[in-house]
Amino acid sequence: MSEELKKYRFTGDGKFNISSFDRADTGSFSGRDEAVDEFIANLHEINRLQQKLYAARREGVIFIFQAMDAAGKDGVIRTVFSTLSPHGVKEYCFKVPSSVEQSHDYLWRFWSALPAKGNISIFNRSYYEDVLVGRVHSLYKNQLWPKRLEDNDFISDRYSQIVNFEQYLYDTGTRVVKIFLNVSKEEQARRFISRIDTPKKNWKVSSGDMAERDYWDEYMDAFETMVNKTSTAHSPWYVVPADSKWYARLTVSRIVVETLREMAPEYPDVDEAEAKLFAENRAKLAAELGISDAPAEPAEKPKKEKKTKADKVFAKADSVTEDIIKDEEEGKIKKEKKSAKKASKAPADDDSGFDAVSVIAREAMS
Ligand code: AMP
Ligand code: MG
Repeated sequence: MSEELKKYRFTGDGKFNISSFDRADTGSFSGRDEAVDEFIANLHEINRLQQKLYAARREGVIFIFQAMDAAGKDGVIRTVFSTLSPHGVKEYCFKVPSSVEQSHDYLWRFWSALPAKGNISIFNRSYYEDVLVGRVHSLYKNQLWPKRLEDNDFISDRYSQIVNFEQYLYDTGTRVVKIFLNVSKEEQARRFISRIDTPKKNWKVSSGDMAERDYWDEYMDAFETMVNKTSTAHSPWYVVPADSKWYARLTVSRIVVETLREMAPEYPDVDEAEAKLFAENRAKLAAELGISDAPAEPAEKPKKEKKTKADKVFAKADSVTEDIIKDEEEGKIKKEKKSAKKASKAPADDDSGFDAVSVIAREAMS
């Protein structure tokens, strides 16, 4: 893991101090142009690792996102997970609990959103709301409780309940990775203004969000306590500087790559009985096509196909991924400023028809 990412990672050892956290940090980058190549490479890597995760079917993973309003959760999710295949991923947006949800314990509504092994669940807000908005407004007071619990301090119990829940999930094949997009009050104000000024963003404006600004300090206390009380080695919190959208997206792409690499999914091996069946089936299929019964020999070398423009774009992105992996293995990420500049200057419609990764990466870094 890069030193830059380690700085944002909390596993229960170091203490998170929200007042000394630099929300405008952009790490070793002086501008977004330098980050584009790595972001593209990470998106390709996420795609490859997800395919293995899905094929291996050994472990599931949940990425939880928490933040103040307008911190950029939706944009991060839209871009960083844009190369995932829909069959292995589902996003869940948790809103104010319905009356049915409120009539159950606070973890009840999350069970049905847990991923199957090999799958990814994205929680856009989560049970952590119960120690954020739930704590700031003491929402448990609005509910009825058994008489024996009437004097209970429900909030303080929740931290250990959540740690136990996540440990249980880890022990039974699901890991939970938590991401807090930490935006400043000033940047939130700028983004609220932009939502008001931009007609296509008007749908995001909510007067309720405005009212929560009055409780900013209480929320910051709640976020700090949440990170300090629920970070564990298996279920870390990442606190991501979120005043710069492109840096937040780059950092989250690094977190996802790092998590999937740590899970180290591999395509499953074929056992002996299966291999025998494969050989029999192959012989049958080859006979049907009137081709050789033996697996591809040099004589059957496929004809060299002409490379399309899209092939070339993909090949370039692949080589960038390989370079980054190599550099990381050597413990250093080279910053090839020249090529990054070139990539970000390419015209917006230069997607060669298929290169969604480059299109999304350019938009995400803008
Ligand atoms: P948004 O994600 O901006 O669409 O808003 C969802 C709203 O639901 C936020 O204001 C959250 O604070 C609120 N919310 C989510 N979970 C809970 C919860 N457990 N209790 C109260 N409010 C919640
Ligand atoms: Mg909102």
